[in-house]
Amino acid sequence: MEPTDCNGYCICVHCNLRILHAVGTPCRETMCPQCGKKMMREGSYHHQLYLQKLGEINHESSSTNKGK
Ligand SMILES: [Zn+2]
Repeated sequence: MEPTDCNGYCICVHCNLRILHAVGTPCRETMCPQCGKKMMREGSYHHQLYLQKLGEINHESSSTNKGK
């Protein structure tokens, strides 16, 4: 069984680009290939905080995942 911790995506909150997480490289040390900003681990604590902030601003109350 593979540990799911090694899978997942890095997400750029600046341009919403998602790339497959590179094992061994922290997402926050990965630069977005599109806009050059630091990325963060999708679903991580910091990412969720960011989404919460966005939700408060947009008044979005849905907790379901969009897309897949
Ligand atoms: Zn970006």
